[in-house]
Amino acid sequence: MSNFLHARHASLEAYVPGEQPTDQKYIKLNTNESPYPPLPEVVEAAAGAAALCHLYSDPEGKALRAKLAARYGVEPAQTILGNGSDEILSFAFQAFGGPDVPVAFPDISYGFYPVYADLYGIPKKIVPLREDFTVSADDYIGLGCGMIVIANPNAPTGLAIGLDDVARICAGNPDSVVLIDEAYVDFGARSAVTLLADHPNLLVVQTFSKSRSLAGGRLGYGIASAEIIADLNRMKYSINPYNINRMTLAAGEATLDHDEVCAARCAEIAATRAYTAVELRKLGFTLTDSLTNFLFARPADGDAAGMYAELRKRGILVRHFSGERVREYLRITVGTREQMDALLSAVREIQG
Ligand SMILES: *Cc1c(COP(=O)(O)O)cnc(C)c1O
Repeated sequence: MSNFLHARHASLEAYVPGEQPTDQKYIKLNTNESPYPPLPEVVEAAAGAAALCHLYSDPEGKALRAKLAARYGVEPAQTILGNGSDEILSFAFQAFGGPDVPVAFPDISYGFYPVYADLYGIPKKIVPLREDFTVSADDYIGLGCGMIVIANPNAPTGLAIGLDDVARICAGNPDSVVLIDEAYVDFGARSAVTLLADHPNLLVVQTFSKSRSLAGGRLGYGIASAEIIADLNRMKYSINPYNINRMTLAAGEATLDHDEVCAARCAEIAATRAYTAVELRKLGFTLTDSLTNFLFARPADGDAAGMYAELRKRGILVRHFSGERVREYLRITVGTREQMDALLSAVREIQG
């Protein structure tokens, strides 16, 4: 820390991304990326756009937003693009929280929520998950917050709530924005986009990072009422109007042109997830019923930290969180069948 950092940031704990080590080749099952690279058509589109990089990108991202709007059955004015969905989350915290207006989210969820709240000086209303790691809609009624944020499915638990519960939370907090973070929705849960017509306070956030093989492209989007999107744009145009670069805009469009390939890959990952869960249970693991591209798994002896270290030695990276309620669990990204077989062999070897 320099002497120049403002005192309000002195105790800020920044988000810690999953490690990306380069000391050896790892099977990377720690950051929930897709094991499948972008399609050649997507790479080609991005390369073509690179040739025009002397010109600014379209700040409105019109062509891509038109495709997204068509894909989700909404108006283009109901969409906004972000440099990763992290940026949409950042805009939302800035827009709808404040020093006197708290934001609510579960105790166990995406690690970025408390970071944004702290960065922007927003009080946190932490709502504990139930003992079985589920979100109970009853715990989110009448919270009196500026915004309620729920990842659905949740991370790192992998568990989803139904749309009836999302609707109940929206109706139970008419004066709050309800942000549903659907980073993992394409792997088996249902999107709340269909609730938008009935719930003007709903903001759905999705990303190209997990289900559309574009984590390194940095592309996310929000879908909500035109009014909520206008609020988010007020943030965007006050920070970085050209937030999406030309290559990423082109890659996003080409990806949506082949959305059936992404859907097939998601189905493949869901099948591999089911297979891996069965095998891990045979090895004594306890698992939640994940609807995502990762598994939340507790080794029989609860020594997840030890298992993490042993797997790392064998060239397999998974994610371990040290939080009190989750430290006996590993979050394991579902990769290809071959990658999961390598994981399972390593676990068998570690267990002796
Ligand atoms: C990965 C993730 C995001 C952010 O992803 P981007 O790469 O910024 O789009 C948001 N929310 C959750 C719950 C995630 O796991």
